[in-house]
Amino acid sequence: MFKWLSVQVVSSIFWGNTNLLYYIIYFYNIYSIIQIPFVAQSLKAFISRFPQSLFMDTASLRRGIESLIHMHSSALIPAIMDSGFSCQRCGWCCRENFKIRITKDILRPSNAISIFPDDIRRIVRGTGKKLDEVAQPDTYSCLTDGDTIWAIGWILRRNEEGNCIFYRSGACTIYEWRPVICRCYPFFMGGKGVDIMRCGGLGNKTSWEKAGEIAWMLKRYEIKKLRSYIGILEQVGDKLSPANLCSLPENYSGNVLVCDGEV
Ligand code: SF4
Repeated sequence: MFKWLSVQVVSSIFWGNTNLLYYIIYFYNIYSIIQIPFVAQSLKAFISRFPQSLFMDTASLRRGIESLIHMHSSALIPAIMDSGFSCQRCGWCCRENFKIRITKDILRPSNAISIFPDDIRRIVRGTGKKLDEVAQPDTYSCLTDGDTIWAIGWILRRNEEGNCIFYRSGACTIYEWRPVICRCYPFFMGGKGVDIMRCGGLGNKTSWEKAGEIAWMLKRYEIKKLRSYIGILEQVGDKLSPANLCSLPENYSGNVLVCDGEV
């Protein structure tokens, strides 16, 4: 079994020494990958837009941010209210339910949750844990040029069963510090508005205020996501190639260079 401790992680998050940094191109819909396992229709939508989004340029991303900034988050409220979401603490989104094959070599767990450096810092501050105890490089989404392996961002650390390390006795033990993506689930912004993922909390009652909170968080998440893509594209855009996509081999013991879009 792959041992995380044998991997030396070099990251921009805490040390901020640009001489140490390696950046990796971030394919546009990396966060969409985590949505794939939940509903087949999302998978179809993802696959259909993957080739285009893979090569999205920074100008398009900036336009996307601009239009999000001008969009009032209340526009998302009706779709959220219609879903009737109310968290039932079922833990579906925290547990590994199954894996999905992204490419011939990449098998991604359903709950490999991509998180932002800000999320990690907040959890580290709130819990007093170390980075390594909170997050792990996203080794299910790596790029390699044959010599170097870059992990594309971070995911929440997972336990031996594959569940989020913070999911215990049926509850999130870091609820007030949980990542933005956990606050948004089961909603994501899709091309035509709000995409809704599989969730046992749907079909209940949602208040306007609660839907408004989620809508605000969704907009914030989307802007943050696009900004992180720009950060990576600008630095290592030339390395992006579908042929370079890989997941980290289980017996790998070298360095993993994490590209998270922060300078
Ligand atoms: S941080 Fe909390 S809400 Fe998010 S996956 Fe882990 S246990 Fe679930």
